Amino acid sequence: MPEAPKILSDSADCIDDIVVENNNKVLKFIEDVTADADEVQRRVLSEILSRSANVEYLQRYGLNGCTDRETFKKVIPVVTYEDLKPDIERIANGDTSPILCSQPISEFLTSSGTSAGERKLMPTIEEELGRRSLLYSLLMPVMSQFLPGLDKGKGMYFLFVKSEAKTPGGLVARPVLTSYYKSSHFKNRPNDPYTNYTSPKETILCLDSYQSMYSQLLCGLFQNEDVVRVGAVFASGFIRAIQFLEKHWSLLCKDIRTGTIDSKITDPSVREAVMKILKPNPKLADFVEAECSKGSWKGIITRLWPETKYIDVIVTGTMSQYIPALDYYSNALPLVCTMYASSECYFGINLNPLCNPSEVSYTLIPNMAYFEFLPVTRKDELTGSISEPTALNDKEKQQLVDLVDVKLGQDYELVVTTYAGLYRYRVGDILRVSGFKNKAPQFNFICRKNVVLSIDSDKTDEVELQNAVKNAANQLLQYEASLVEYTGYADTSAIPGHYVLFWELSVKDSTLIAPSVFEDCCFTVEESLNSVYRQGRVCDKSIGPLEIRVVENGTFDMLMDFALSQGSSINQYKTPRCVKYAPIIELLNSRVISSYFSPKCPRWTAGHKQWCTQN
Ligand code: AMP
Repeated sequence: MPEAPKILSDSADCIDDIVVENNNKVLKFIEDVTADADEVQRRVLSEILSRSANVEYLQRYGLNGCTDRETFKKVIPVVTYEDLKPDIERIANGDTSPILCSQPISEFLTSSGTSAGERKLMPTIEEELGRRSLLYSLLMPVMSQFLPGLDKGKGMYFLFVKSEAKTPGGLVARPVLTSYYKSSHFKNRPNDPYTNYTSPKETILCLDSYQSMYSQLLCGLFQNEDVVRVGAVFASGFIRAIQFLEKHWSLLCKDIRTGTIDSKITDPSVREAVMKILKPNPKLADFVEAECSKGSWKGIITRLWPETKYIDVIVTGTMSQYIPALDYYSNALPLVCTMYASSECYFGINLNPLCNPSEVSYTLIPNMAYFEFLPVTRKDELTGSISEPTALNDKEKQQLVDLVDVKLGQDYELVVTTYAGLYRYRVGDILRVSGFKNKAPQFNFICRKNVVLSIDSDKTDEVELQNAVKNAANQLLQYEASLVEYTGYADTSAIPGHYVLFWELSVKDSTLIAPSVFEDCCFTVEESLNSVYRQGRVCDKSIGPLEIRVVENGTFDMLMDFALSQGSSINQYKTPRCVKYAPIIELLNSRVISSYFSPKCPRWTAGHKQWCTQN
């Protein structure tokens, strides 16, 4: 298997030559693994299976130490999280026997995908950190082919850690990025011009989101002339930083002017790290103040950070809703989506990073995991819903294809087998083949299966929404009112965005229902939604209060007429549980009688509900 390129050593005399040499090595590595994709995949699977020959899960299905693809595909089922839950719970409760993986599970990564309202727990092993670092190390050499000079400046990236919890068995459970930023791979990374960030690690590792954001912005503003690229993981996070700046620029300017840090920043390690950078700079403070106090914030990014060449954020999938806001704040700087990854596994990178956001395609890196693909068909373009088999029958199982066998233009659901103990696991993402890099396919990210609403990293599916709406609508029964139909949409016209539910009611006497009843309904929906949604509301403040808009009677009939006029079949028509198409949203909005917001935040605590009661 091709060797992963080494990161630069800080003993290097001539950093420029080493940067070029390393870039070339990385690009050659990408050429090699993509040219040899099928062989790399064969070896990855064989390596995973030979290491895991003794694990209970594979023995249960009678793999008997076989490491070839054919036997593996014949005996090992294609599974979802629900299938693995009993095994995962055993590990969470402290069973250290080799259930899924022969290497010790080092921690759980808490996915933003949920199961029974709680984050899914993805087992991981220590060495996966190396695999994640490898994928990160590919990004800048690729980028540098298109934009030279990125090694001469800094990146202003807003990166954050989230709270972590312990499972009853004592394993840490936290999001994958929190795990990565806290690891020595990130904290003690060697000197490398491509990982030279304006934010000191202490500001990233501060759990208090206000202090972390404030100190990262302060350092970013203070070093504004060095910044050549800006970003965050997802577009929503970057926009949150700009909004924070809109609110707090005068305090930040005061700190820049005096070279001190505001007293609200109490974390001693953050204060110390920032004070190593900050010096009084009244000229810079005047400049920032003048730019921020101009009426318009159009182009604020290029105004405050004039050397910025691009914004590095994910704007594919549901994040595409933030493209207009990013264009506005940046005067349409390139929006660069560099990678595609998840808690289960890091998947791939964008080899053409300056392409239009609507054309982004990710090349899966064949040595990250063993990949299979389940063909899917799009049923309903209007609502974007996807046909989804729950458990696969034999015919469907046979349809799964290998990485190099996918067909251009076809949609697939991604299935992975990882070094950390997931075997033929359905990630839940739908990808479309857009091209090939050598033998390795490239994919457009189409959607997360089944997700109807998403503002930030929350992913609310149809069933969760249905249950939440049912819980809330039950409260109307005592007023002799009932819910006839509903649909929802993610409104991101203001930041933070919020969920909007359109409700059509059957009411005997609407004057009997006080506004507070509907506000309680909004709150009940929020309380019933999954923990990632509630964390976004409570902790990250990345999601605004949920809104119910009551619409006139007959609105949903009009919606159906509209869908039929667009070619839907009357026999198959179902009310879509989310709407994205602007004319439909306009239609619904034109029929709104009244609207109500959730009056308070729902409850949220770190860790799974059941652990809190057990601990
Ligand atoms: P998590 O498990 O919380 O880390 O979330 C991983 C999921 O985020 C993936 O399975 C995708 O659904 C989504 N995601 C990650 N990277 C991208 C990307 N580049 N574009 C669109 N969606 C992404």
